[in-house]
Amino acid sequence: MSVLVLGSANLDLVYDVDRIPAPGETVLARGFASFPGGKGNNQAIAAARCGADVRFVVALGRDASGDRLAEEARRAGIDLRDRRCDAPTGTAVIYVDRGAENSIVVDSGANALLTDLTAAERDDIADADVLVLQLETPLDTVAEAVRTARAGATRVVLNAAPSADLPPGLLGDADVLVVNEHEAAALAGLPAGADERSLLAVLTDRGAAAIITLGAAGALVGVPGAAPVLVPGHRVEAVDTTGAGDTFVGALAAALDRSGDRTPASLVDAAAFATAAAAIAVRRKGAVPSIPTLEEVLDFRGRH
Ligand code: ATP
Repeated sequence: MSVLVLGSANLDLVYDVDRIPAPGETVLARGFASFPGGKGNNQAIAAARCGADVRFVVALGRDASGDRLAEEARRAGIDLRDRRCDAPTGTAVIYVDRGAENSIVVDSGANALLTDLTAAERDDIADADVLVLQLETPLDTVAEAVRTARAGATRVVLNAAPSADLPPGLLGDADVLVVNEHEAAALAGLPAGADERSLLAVLTDRGAAAIITLGAAGALVGVPGAAPVLVPGHRVEAVDTTGAGDTFVGALAAALDRSGDRTPASLVDAAAFATAAAAIAVRRKGAVPSIPTLEEVLDFRGRH
């Protein structure tokens, strides 16, 4: 059993400032720290901490940031399949002011060069039980990975985030689509704030399962032809929701991989596991540091 994540990795450079600088202004930071980030990286770490055997296909620069991301991924137990590219490792520069308002600039860097899968990468996809994808790497590559998975027996979990215009056929080929409410509305072509059950009906109409994450309210799981199932969120004191969505997706993939079962009931079980993992993550600061281990999720579920 194994999970293959194909996606982005960034180094997040976080500056604490009194206020976000206006155009032309220079401000002194109160503090600075750097963290591993990027949806692919976060989801790979979440799946690994939640007990899955994880391979991660990612493009990094030949630079110190790339070395650091590779080292941290390996330390998390991930079998890293990194391409080193002639572009800097992706970065996100984040200013956070005293009111926790933020301003972010992302440079995709090497992530934009994750094009044309190699034969070894296609073999890794075909060997995996679950393939996890997001939309921070070139969409043609995402589509190629989905086609490769569909040619074999690999199950595809597509986290269609951030919102993007998808190549034709991509959505239809994903076995499990995972989106938050904003992404669901954009994909369904309905106004933001539309009822989540209507959104789910449109997303499952393509003939495959979809999950809409609902923040503190949990997640709504839909399978074509069956009534939607609400997996309620856990009531916790939320300290920092950064990375909640990525923790959910990685934990979901680990749970699907572990059960190996494709029934609607096992999808609901996996969503319940992921909801518990994400609830633990929001109680702690940071994206990667907040991701729980399998033992923590099992202990939390035993008590809630
Ligand atoms: P983010 O962008 O903050 O990483 P997202 O918008 O992709 O998240 P959300 O729907 O906000 O996704 O959150 C994902 C999951 O995290 C939810 O389905 C839920 O299980 C859990 N979660 C998020 N916020 C809370 C909260 N305040 N309390 C408990 N669980 C939460």
